[in-house]
Amino acid sequence: MKKIHEKILRIKHPELYKKIYFECGSGWFDILDKVAEKIERLETAGKIRIEPSQIKEKFGSMRYYYYEMHRATKDKEKQRIFSDIISDVIHKAETETENTCEQCGKFGSINNTGWLQCLCDPCRTKQEQERAERLKK
Ligand SMILES: [Zn+2]
Repeated sequence: MKKIHEKILRIKHPELYKKIYFECGSGWFDILDKVAEKIERLETAGKIRIEPSQIKEKFGSMRYYYYEMHRATKDKEKQRIFSDIISDVIHKAETETENTCEQCGKFGSINNTGWLQCLCDPCRTKQEQERAERLKK
């Protein structure tokens, strides 16, 4: 991810993203921003704290690993419900990256051979050209 995008995410979501390094492309910036907004609302309502441990690209889509901390409350059932909702919200964001170009954020798809990556057609063409150029040298 480009430094500028990483910086914006840290400024907008200091609690969630202050310690995390994004091991994925800038194309997923919007997804990471939107999922953070949802998580923050759910954290407050459910008395839960989410701490991402690793956010990375793997086999073409995003993996969002996190720890979950529960505040002391008598309403454990409510906490469990919010825990499930947060898990669904994160899973949905991961699924969204399967159709979002990791480079530019436009509609993309994961190739089925070689190094798996979710890219749109122009970004894939560009990447293949760059790879061919590198091999020539
Ligand atoms: Zn693209």
